[in-house]
Amino acid sequence: MRAAARTVLASTIYPLPTYEGGDMDTCPNGCDLTGGPIPEESQHLYGGKTHFSRRVGYYDMTQDRTVSWSCPDCGLTWPR
Ligand SMILES: [Zn+2]
Repeated sequence: MRAAARTVLASTIYPLPTYEGGDMDTCPNGCDLTGGPIPEESQHLYGGKTHFSRRVGYYDMTQDRTVSWSCPDCGLTWPR
């Protein structure tokens, strides 16, 4: 019997979500989560996004999806 963790910290880096008016990302507390630039030759893999997001994703292996986000600055966790 193997007791697998149900939720794992996703090491994947996410492209910035797109809002009206351009790419940006903030946590619910207002921290700027804009990360490093995506290399131009890789941008097509991320839907044309130009920067990564610094938000941390929590991936649920049972549901096979990211279920919540965490802010690296203030530590807040919020549902997806
Ligand atoms: Zn924050």
